[in-house]
Amino acid sequence: MESQDFADVLKAVRSFVRDQVVPSEEEIEETDAIPERLRRTSREMGLFGYALPEQYGGLGLSLSEEVRLVFEIGYASPAFRSMFGTSNGIAGQVLVNAGTGEQKDAWLPKLASGEVIGAFALTEAEAGSDPSTLTTSAVRDGGDYVINGSKRFITNAPEADVFMVFARTGGEGARGISTFLVEKGAGGLEVGPSDQKMGQRGAHTAEVFFDGVRVPAGNLIGTEGTGFRTAMASLAHGRVSISAVCVGLAQRILDETVAYAKERNQGGNVIGEYQLVQGLIADSQAELYAGRSMVIEAARAYDAGEDTKIGPSSAKYFCSEMVGRVADRAVQVYGGMGYMRGVAVERLYRDVRLFRIYEGTSQIQQLVIARNLLR
Ligand SMILES: Cc1cc2nc3c(=O)[nH]c(=O)nc-3n(C[C@H](O)[C@H](O)[C@H](O)COP(=O)(O)OP(=O)(O)OC[C@H]3O[C@@H](n4cnc5c(N)ncnc54)[C@H](O)[C@@H]3O)c2cc1C
Repeated sequence: MESQDFADVLKAVRSFVRDQVVPSEEEIEETDAIPERLRRTSREMGLFGYALPEQYGGLGLSLSEEVRLVFEIGYASPAFRSMFGTSNGIAGQVLVNAGTGEQKDAWLPKLASGEVIGAFALTEAEAGSDPSTLTTSAVRDGGDYVINGSKRFITNAPEADVFMVFARTGGEGARGISTFLVEKGAGGLEVGPSDQKMGQRGAHTAEVFFDGVRVPAGNLIGTEGTGFRTAMASLAHGRVSISAVCVGLAQRILDETVAYAKERNQGGNVIGEYQLVQGLIADSQAELYAGRSMVIEAARAYDAGEDTKIGPSSAKYFCSEMVGRVADRAVQVYGGMGYMRGVAVERLYRDVRLFRIYEGTSQIQQLVIARNLLR
């Protein structure tokens, strides 16, 4: 994108997030839903397709541009970003990287406009950190595949129109996995009730069941046996993007912390004058700075084709742990108030816990980093 156009997008998104989304956070928490007005404006601004190619109606941002945009988006409740994050990210990238021309033409413009919502269905009850052991099966039957099995913790499942489903077509391990496009309403496809989560109210996950779901062979994405590679490629991109969300949110939490430290009085002084409180603030600022720098470099190396593994995993590992520490210090600076419902840092403390778990736990990022170094 032209640099002036991109600067305009950044500016518009920054004011939308700060002026409209942040003041709606309590409403999102109470109703467990993103208000329609925010959904509509997000669509108009192109947020459902910022990472999708321009030829399909997306903004076509490079990952380096995307992370700068996501720093702004991440400043608000992460449920807001989740509304369009999967369509741009793990689900949409499956089609971008591995879809046929026909599949891209049929789905990417609708994903980019927000007309349809996508989901990425990899995790199963017995296959989370190690998805290569998944057991959902897809068996060829004439011109169709028949899918049986179940998935869990699938983001957007309750509202999804299309699922990128990873299923075993034959053989053991990663090489036996293929990817299928399954539309909502397919016979035998059922979505369970929304999970009751610790945080991120307004973003929904659920189980997805496949009971003899029949899809045409044309719904195979890529070729048989390439599903694991497709999933990992989507996740590598997603990991840099999640790191950027962590940075944006850490900035927000630090801003809340500094504002409170400047106005809260105790013992005759504002608490920000106490050096032990200053230490907490300084640690968060230094770590946030490190995280932001890391994400910018990881995105640059990804765009240059230099590193799609160690950089994304290092950034996801560090930034998800970093925002956890920043949120923990924020609660500390708030004292008793930090433990009370209705206070933003209490809610954000719960929200950020997820980042160390999904799209690969911190332990899995450690394994990816070390294995690639030792290879
Ligand atoms: C809110 C939410 C949204 C999600 N959205 C999606 C989605 O949209 N699509 C999707 O497919 N999945 C999604 N997930 C699933 C998520 O990616 C998995 O929960 C995650 O990968 C961990 O898998 P698991 O829960 O089975 O934990 P497990 O794999 O059982 O891990 C349990 C613990 O063991 C550790 N562990 C496991 N294996 C190893 C190992 N080899 N070495 C060291 N430690 C190990 C883990 O780090 C963890 O601490 C979501 C999860 C949540 C909670």
